[in-house]
Amino acid sequence: MMGKSHIIISTGITLSILGMADYKITIPVIAVTTISALLPDIDEPNSLLVSRAIPKKFIHFFQFTLVALAAAFCFLGQAFAPWNILLAVLVSLVSFMPTRSLRNVIMILIGTALIALGHDFIPWSFLIGCLLIVCALLPHRGLTHTLYGLTIWILILYFSTNQYDSTIWISGGLSYLLHLLADSVTNRGIRPLPPFDWRLKLNLMSTGTWKGKIVENGFIGLTTLLVWFVFFRDFNF
Ligand SMILES: [Zn+2]
Repeated sequence: MMGKSHIIISTGITLSILGMADYKITIPVIAVTTISALLPDIDEPNSLLVSRAIPKKFIHFFQFTLVALAAAFCFLGQAFAPWNILLAVLVSLVSFMPTRSLRNVIMILIGTALIALGHDFIPWSFLIGCLLIVCALLPHRGLTHTLYGLTIWILILYFSTNQYDSTIWISGGLSYLLHLLADSVTNRGIRPLPPFDWRLKLNLMSTGTWKGKIVENGFIGLTTLLVWFVFFRDFNF
């Protein structure tokens, strides 16, 4: 399914359930719910979250900094020869890595810095730090669409935000779960428990066909109806 559909369906249904259960819906809850709706698709090459997380300009700036650093090691560290040359070569090698790998290096560095130094902004620094590192280290495509991915995300949310607001991990976990369920109605389905081959596939829609589009829009329509029913029914316009 498309990212836009996931945002509408996962976020809409999650917030409606929270609303019906009388949970307090705060801005952080909405933010985590929306991110969780997109998070499982983070391992796709053109995922909305990954491509927006680190802008191209920042990557070029990082490359430039590495080259400058290598030059500095080379010229200022002559007292430590030949180690300064070795260090300079290593640092400049990193700057020549492909954009995709560089993005991962930057994400791990920022993530580590957030976890180590962000004590003033806990729980957000810890949460964002973990998220960046997990995203950078994702071993292969498909792992996010499993029950393991769901469990890891719930644990990260729980330990980073439960003291602050106990609704966040529930809404984030629910939104992520709904993304997986939405994907399981497509013809591709999901494999929730690898290495087991069992596939969760309802085959209600084929992605990319006009019938699939109708079913997808049907889900969006039902979600809109639910949101209206829960939040706007009693309003007098
Ligand atoms: Zn997906």
